[in-house]
Amino acid sequence: MAEHFNVVEQFGIDVFNEETMKQRLPKNVFKALKKTIAEGKELDSSIADVVASAMKDWAIEKGATHYTHWFQPMTGITAEKHDSFISPMGDGTVIMEFSGKELIKGEPDASSFPSGGIRATFEARGYTAWDPTSYAFVKGGSLYIPTAFYSYSGEALDKKTPLLRSMDVVSDAALRILKLFGNTTAKRVVATVGAEQEYFLVNKATYDKRKDLIFTGRTLFGAPAPKGQELDDHYFGTIKDRVASYMKDLDEHMWKLGITSKTKHNEVAPAQHENAPIFAPANLATDQNQLTMELMKKIALEHGLVCLLHEKPFAGINGSGKHDNWSLSTDDGQNLLDPGKSPMENAQFLTFLVAIIKAVDEYSDLLRLSVASAGNDHRLGANEAPPAIISIFLGEELENVIEALEEGKEYTSGREMFNVGVSSLPNFPKDTTDRNRTSPFAFTGNKFEFRSAGSSLNIAGPNTVLNTIVANSLSEFADVLEKADDFNAALHDLLVKNIKQHKRVIFNGNGYGAEWLVEAEKRGLPNLKTTVDAIPALTAEKNVKVFTKFGVYSEVELHARQEINYENYSKIINIEALTTSDMAKTEILPAVMKFSKDVCDMAASKKALGIEPVVETELANKTNTLTISLNEKIDALNAAIVKAQGVSDYAEQAKAYCDDVFVAMQSLRAVADELETIVGEEYWPFPTYDELLFNV
Ligand code: ADP
Ligand code: MG
Repeated sequence: MAEHFNVVEQFGIDVFNEETMKQRLPKNVFKALKKTIAEGKELDSSIADVVASAMKDWAIEKGATHYTHWFQPMTGITAEKHDSFISPMGDGTVIMEFSGKELIKGEPDASSFPSGGIRATFEARGYTAWDPTSYAFVKGGSLYIPTAFYSYSGEALDKKTPLLRSMDVVSDAALRILKLFGNTTAKRVVATVGAEQEYFLVNKATYDKRKDLIFTGRTLFGAPAPKGQELDDHYFGTIKDRVASYMKDLDEHMWKLGITSKTKHNEVAPAQHENAPIFAPANLATDQNQLTMELMKKIALEHGLVCLLHEKPFAGINGSGKHDNWSLSTDDGQNLLDPGKSPMENAQFLTFLVAIIKAVDEYSDLLRLSVASAGNDHRLGANEAPPAIISIFLGEELENVIEALEEGKEYTSGREMFNVGVSSLPNFPKDTTDRNRTSPFAFTGNKFEFRSAGSSLNIAGPNTVLNTIVANSLSEFADVLEKADDFNAALHDLLVKNIKQHKRVIFNGNGYGAEWLVEAEKRGLPNLKTTVDAIPALTAEKNVKVFTKFGVYSEVELHARQEINYENYSKIINIEALTTSDMAKTEILPAVMKFSKDVCDMAASKKALGIEPVVETELANKTNTLTISLNEKIDALNAAIVKAQGVSDYAEQAKAYCDDVFVAMQSLRAVADELETIVGEEYWPFPTYDELLFNV
């Protein structure tokens, strides 16, 4: 029998966490480091050597020989370069060394990471700096040091730096509000995040036979299997042994790395599953989600499986998302989105709530952009994920309160008139039944759930936007309230004014319905359907203003990121298009011709015997027509690719990939998928949806 895994003993065993620090560091150093972590400050170089040395000894005991500054460049995945601890003594021997300097700062050769022209303009080097608020850990024989990545002149080259900046910014703004409500003890407000990760598992052997999965992470061809998700028999269904054993393995790896894996279940689509951790501070949650995705892929291979994290691996069934649950919490443990019990707590809750409503309304284009990717374009608005229109779901109860507040009316299910700072809110049930799954941004009792994020996304992006735009509302509120003579009256007026101004973004109805498109347009809410439609938001004047006001992104950084976004989109569609063309030409077309030949041969044989080849003739004709069409569509796609490749402007090029290349791909696929339903199974050159989805 397999050895019993002791979760309590093993949890965080590979992490240099607070407990380990406490055991391993001199008291004064531990205290200084803890203060640094708690206040999100920089590490004092005087203690860095001591911390580095203790970390190294601990890592070596865990089998590490190397260390790496682990960072999150604009590729969206993580990057690492490993250096060993060895230091030659000059007599042919070595010792293991690791200095404070090496811990705090690294200098990877960064010339091949996307920078959006930043390094070309300034300097070729990039630096990494330890983020002490995210613990170091040991994995695969290396000590991993979570870092931020920036250029010589200080521009962020990664996803992490802006996130850390935004966490400071929202903390400062929230503290101003808390102070007005009499909280003088909180020193920091932390943005908390819990990311629910969806994924697919397919057989490695099947996967290996499909170039599209290998090169693009999704199927570019495939007629629907006779059975899809219509019976709803997979969602929360019994987990198969093989998948259960994968999930167990995954949990154990996650726990050892201190990731609080909590929930696992089958998802809606066949072969689709979900894992959710317990929430953590936004930067840690981001690091841990990146690690989770990496572990999911690695462990799958050990089980003869491949984990697909693409947003839309299969047409016709649900794709995968990643719900980004977000809230704000004080360092003394108060969740600021938890409606309190007393009138004052309720008033504070409503202040934060209205600040968020204002933020989402004013910057919905940025939120939309923060989840934009070629992969996610398949999901948003396709009746499986929220539409591309960003709106807020509050639930009936809370919407009534907001409405009563706005109109100065009696709150219907309460007895008295609701008056900010005087009356109490009713108890909101932590809502599990009245879930509106079609809303992009839903209040779920004590947090918001941003549901538009796609499965492969680095969640630093959406959380950077959320933190910044909420900081903006809160600081604007603080500007007004700090000057007020009568706090309650001023607060009441402020909330009412903002509700009136921003309630258009609140929508409790069906986000999948066609009526919502019409209604949203009437309300003036943006509907940025594709990534290419969404990208310009990054440098829209109001958005540059809010980011630079708080120092979350500089204007240079925003333009760089815009360029990277466009370029990235074009590259992805280019790879997909080339793969589509290649598979159609070198795999599908020859298979279809072989099939046609056999059909025609049979027809000829029958004819020779004087038998009318009725079925063969019909089949041959149908196949012939589709083959001609397929061939034309290959040519059309190739022409579109060449044309798009020749466009030099980033934005124009992305538009060409979106409007021409992608459309040509879809049109080719339709013909190929129809051929798949005609051509005999033994002829078809790669595994079909049946085999992919129902064979794990
Ligand atoms: P669901 O039914 O949507 O799965 P859960 O209550 O299980 O809802 O929560 C989903 C995620 O939300 C989990 O990762 C959980 O830790 C996270 N979450 C809960 N409270 C908060 C919070 N205050 N801040 C951020 N995330 C939270
Ligand atoms: Mg959820």
